[in-house]
Amino acid sequence: MSLREFQQEAAHWLEANCPQSLRGSLEAVSGGGHKVPIEDDDGQRYFDAMVERGWTVPHWPRTYGGAGLSDAEHQVLRRVMSEVGAPIPLAGMGTTMIGPTLLEHGTDEQKARHLPKIASGEIRWCQGYSEPGAGSDLASLKTRADDEGDYFLINGSKIWTSGAQFADWIFCLVRTDFDAPKHEGISFLLFSMDQPGVTVKPIRLISGASPFCECFFDDVRALKEDLVGQLNRGWSIAKRLLQHERSSISGMVPQTRSVPEVARQYLTTTGNKIDDPSMRASVIDHEMGAHAFALTQKRAREENADGSTQTFATSLFKLYRSELTIRRTELIVSMMGTRGAGWEGESFADDELAETRFWLARKAGTIAGGSSEVQRNVIAKRVLSLPD
Ligand SMILES: Cc1cc2nc3c(=O)[nH]c(=O)nc-3n(C[C@H](O)[C@H](O)[C@H](O)COP(=O)(O)OP(=O)(O)OC[C@H]3O[C@@H](n4cnc5c(N)ncnc54)[C@H](O)[C@@H]3O)c2cc1C
Repeated sequence: MSLREFQQEAAHWLEANCPQSLRGSLEAVSGGGHKVPIEDDDGQRYFDAMVERGWTVPHWPRTYGGAGLSDAEHQVLRRVMSEVGAPIPLAGMGTTMIGPTLLEHGTDEQKARHLPKIASGEIRWCQGYSEPGAGSDLASLKTRADDEGDYFLINGSKIWTSGAQFADWIFCLVRTDFDAPKHEGISFLLFSMDQPGVTVKPIRLISGASPFCECFFDDVRALKEDLVGQLNRGWSIAKRLLQHERSSISGMVPQTRSVPEVARQYLTTTGNKIDDPSMRASVIDHEMGAHAFALTQKRAREENADGSTQTFATSLFKLYRSELTIRRTELIVSMMGTRGAGWEGESFADDELAETRFWLARKAGTIAGGSSEVQRNVIAKRVLSLPD
């Protein structure tokens, strides 16, 4: 089938299978797993149809629940979905982080066991990297895994584990050799969160939400078959997964009103021009930055043979996206004036309260997935080859 035929067929199929009630929604229909069910029938119907078609992970091989699309077809599908207003059916760490990592580093048996459950949204994953004493200096982690024959026994704790309260499984960095240099005694393990010895405590943020948790592991088990890569060689897999994570963060477009839309609502304009010159300059500056960033990402995808941006240069995109989002939310809240300072109560509209909370929540974006300083270190060392 030519790309043109594929495009027509995809548009036709989406017209028939994406209910009107979902069109234009910027939120994914599901994050996967059974702990947060899809609430409406339209969402469930669309989700099931997308799973059936392999379009939750369109570029994965069919054997693992994908549709086996080429990069060019995948780009076309993304474009058509956006034109039709079809939302992303499935989001989360399964499709964006552990799935792509297993495709590259998993054994055939691991791929066959885990990937189809990610593609179908049956299992939701969380990321067990950070610990109270190991964040930017991740390789200092101390959670241990001891070899018990058929399985590993895990003891220790993780922190800032996003969505752990809703996750079914975790991909986790553990120390398996305490005598080796710190980067050489780490292993990459997968295990179920639904087993005795796992305790999850949500952490409440200033925004009022609890997007992440503390996790405690007391004699928790991981199967030997769920060691990804070699024993004590998990660090290189951990770094590769971070590239997938950073690439995914840098592709995230904020799910709120655009800067020009907010400007039109809250600022005085004459014709299509914002009256206040300093606000006008800030809006133009933001829009130019956002547009230049989108074009640079597009160019990077085109330059990479596989259409991805996952290299060390991913740090550049993650850095810019997270800082741009902070500038965007600060600008929006300042354009809203006192309407942007609401916390609760009937005198504020729901979307105004959402903007205030989003502004506070997005400050964390320059820390999640590795802080901006850490990204600058990676860019200096790995992209620009500057001396240590
Ligand atoms: C919203 C959010 C979601 C998260 N989700 C997860 C998750 O799901 N799983 C998970 O494992 N972790 C998660 N994290 C944790 C995140 O990866 C860490 O917070 C991050 O790596 C920073 O580590 P830290 O908090 O220990 O800060 P620290 O490492 O203590 O850093 C403190 C400050 O010092 C700076 N700093 C540290 N070292 C250097 C250096 N060498 N050079 C220059 N500056 C430096 C940092 O940039 C930072 O500003 C999440 C964090 C956030 C905010």
